[in-house]
Amino acid sequence: MYNPKSLKAEEFISDEEILDTLDYAQKNSDNIVLIDSILEKARKRKGLDHREASVLLACQDREKNEEILQLAQQIKKDFYGNRIVMFAPLYLSNYCVNGCVYCPYHLKNKHIARKKLTQDEIIREVTALQDMGHKRLAIESGEDPVMNPIEYILESIKTIYSIKHKNGAIRRVNVNIAATTVENYRKLRDAGIGTYILFQETYHKKSYEILHPTGPKHDYAYHTEAMDRAMQGGIDDVGLGVLFGLEMYRYEFAALLMHAEHLEAVHGVGPHTISVPRIKKADDIDPSVFDNGIDDDIFEKIVACIRIAVPYTGMIISTRENAGCRERILKAGISQISGGSKTSVGGYCEPEPEDRSSEQFDVSDRRTLDEVVNWLMKLGYIPSFCTACYREGRTGDRFMKLCKKQQIQNCCHPNALMTLKEYLEDYAGEETKLIGERLIQSELLNIPNEKSRKITSENLCKISEGMRDFRF
Ligand code: SAM
Repeated sequence: MYNPKSLKAEEFISDEEILDTLDYAQKNSDNIVLIDSILEKARKRKGLDHREASVLLACQDREKNEEILQLAQQIKKDFYGNRIVMFAPLYLSNYCVNGCVYCPYHLKNKHIARKKLTQDEIIREVTALQDMGHKRLAIESGEDPVMNPIEYILESIKTIYSIKHKNGAIRRVNVNIAATTVENYRKLRDAGIGTYILFQETYHKKSYEILHPTGPKHDYAYHTEAMDRAMQGGIDDVGLGVLFGLEMYRYEFAALLMHAEHLEAVHGVGPHTISVPRIKKADDIDPSVFDNGIDDDIFEKIVACIRIAVPYTGMIISTRENAGCRERILKAGISQISGGSKTSVGGYCEPEPEDRSSEQFDVSDRRTLDEVVNWLMKLGYIPSFCTACYREGRTGDRFMKLCKKQQIQNCCHPNALMTLKEYLEDYAGEETKLIGERLIQSELLNIPNEKSRKITSENLCKISEGMRDFRF
């Protein structure tokens, strides 16, 4: 039944294979010889399959768990250095016809303020985001074929890319909208989107159907097979994720990796990113009614095991998590974070009354983008506003080749420094600027190739003189 090459959801996410995997992982959770051999394989930086990674996740040995964490941190350093890519969500509309029981957008919620941005409002929101310093957005929308048809999403993307305010520009628009048709994915590709992101929520079919009782999202197979349709439509970069808290985390973890293996087996390239959201309090949603919540220790271990299993895949954490948790999780393997986010429709321009908001969930990290950038640099990270890969056509397996050839340090590292420099020149507060300038000078020395270092140094001077948008 289990077949990673199948295009049928129930065959590439086989419940039987997951249950067998969990049983195998549990039985071997204290098998130090096996755990050592898996860690040995992982040290070769070629990743692990879902069974091997599930054994690491199940491991209860303190010393081995420390080794797992250390290895994840090392792999993260090797592939991503100390760069953290920045982005912000932009909520276009919270009209939704689905009945997802964990999401306040569900159709029966009459309390939440329903909003849909007009193109003029999008211009205002995006101008506000550009004035913060953002270059990369993830657009979000509820599913409503009448209120939010694909034409509305496409028009909005066009509007977003067209806005050039002062030195600002949104250079990459990632899209997080409901599962759709190959034809619509092709339209999104033609509109120049970056990553198509769709969270599976849960891979457990029965739970999925209970958690999505009504609306088009109820169809497990249609949702689970969405990434195949996206790739058939020509989208190279897709982003997976599950909403932790809905189902047993070990089940979700194994299935998530099986989904990644499936994409690799069928399309020759795995997911571009994996997101790890945890369920949060929202308008009429109480997260404590879902009994599969995970604490920070397990959360950190999940992130570390994903990092080890799929070293080439970016990992994203949002402002659902607070600063303390983000600091801890970043170390274990995260490569992208949001900053200064608002999850309400129109929230970047207009604050909403607390008792009647359009927010999707409570944001735990409420700091401004400048505070987040400042904090990251104090922790030794380089906040990066880079969008070069996709603009240079390095998507899908072409991006993976860059990783595999270990050219990231000669390419992504300079791009991170140049985009950080733009941020410092145009948007940073005094203290952030001071810390950033020092960081750029010391990090310049970490570009191995002499020619790349020289070009970067020249471009940094040109940025000080007012020129923008350099990239390798
Ligand atoms: N409507 C689209 C879909 O069906 O995929 C877009 C996604 S929605 C705007 C973004 C994501 O937010 C969802 O996929 C879900 O995982 C997450 N989400 C929904 N309710 C949440 C909650 N209460 N706490 C945290 N995340 C939530």
